[in-house]
Amino acid sequence: MARVIPQTFGSTFYDEMVISRYEDGWQPPKWQPSNALTLHAGAHVLHYSSTCFEGLKAFRQEDGRTAVFRIDDHVKRIENSAKRLYLPVPDAALLKGMILDIVARTADIIPDAPGSLYLRPTLIGDEPQIGKAGTPSDTALLYVLASPVGDYFVPGTPLNILVETRHQRCAPHMGSVKSGGNYASALYWQMQAKAEYGAQQVLFCPDEDVQETGASNFILIDGNDVITKPLSDEFLHGVTRMSVLTIAQDMGYNVREEQFSVGDLRRAIENGAEAALTGTAAVIAPVTSFIFDDETTVDVRSQEKSLVLRNAVMDIQYGRSEDTHNWLTFVD
Ligand SMILES: *Cc1c(COP(=O)(O)O)cnc(C)c1O
Repeated sequence: MARVIPQTFGSTFYDEMVISRYEDGWQPPKWQPSNALTLHAGAHVLHYSSTCFEGLKAFRQEDGRTAVFRIDDHVKRIENSAKRLYLPVPDAALLKGMILDIVARTADIIPDAPGSLYLRPTLIGDEPQIGKAGTPSDTALLYVLASPVGDYFVPGTPLNILVETRHQRCAPHMGSVKSGGNYASALYWQMQAKAEYGAQQVLFCPDEDVQETGASNFILIDGNDVITKPLSDEFLHGVTRMSVLTIAQDMGYNVREEQFSVGDLRRAIENGAEAALTGTAAVIAPVTSFIFDDETTVDVRSQEKSLVLRNAVMDIQYGRSEDTHNWLTFVD
């Protein structure tokens, strides 16, 4: 496999994956082709969505070494997801070893900056038992896919967001679980927003509470304040969100983890505040306009601070600035 940056994010895979099966305990990981998975057609995941995943990245450093960003936080998050889904909880040392193994194997094909290697640990309930609609799968598969990717974010592209107050992304008790069903549940509103308003993303704000989009967290940068919703079960606890808040604090911003309403958001944007989405794929994507409930579009006047924060996070990821918070794990 050549060291090229694929055009479409997440469509090119390293041809092998590392996989472990759970049956009365986790079995030693094996390597197998990533283009085929043997599952019984009655596997629990295919009927009752017993599935969760992670998304993290490995970066080629300035000095030629390879490092994974915040691996322990991602391992911890899939443990939490597994618990909420009553799936066998991945052994932290086993999963960490699997991730570092696939990164070591693929180090040569990781694209240079601004590219990276996107890693997708996946956990599925594979017990062939369609009678288990109300009970968990006793067995599971845990595998890690690797996908070389370019920069998800293209500077200058518009990011038009529909502010949605009538619907929620997913069931409130599942929001912090990185599980397939949540994306299925948000998809309808996203497609509606695209068709009716040409919006690229939907910002879910049930009962006016500003939460997150379909797959990214949301921050407001108002003067010297960086504001975002405090952690709750209702939304996904992004590792990028945490990183951005930490870096913002380092840079002298006043970080406020507080609930805020659609009215607060609108007033801030109309007065010149910035807004951005955060997530592993794009790091930070500055919002360029919002469409509010009364169908008015409000442009976001500046993207400047968002891009400064974005570069500060990326400088750590690529080893261009000091890793003062110990976020990198080196594989070589
Ligand atoms: C993955 C994800 C995020 C971002 O999490 P990161 O750890 O920053 O990548 C935010 N919201 C949702 C719904 C997600 O699935």
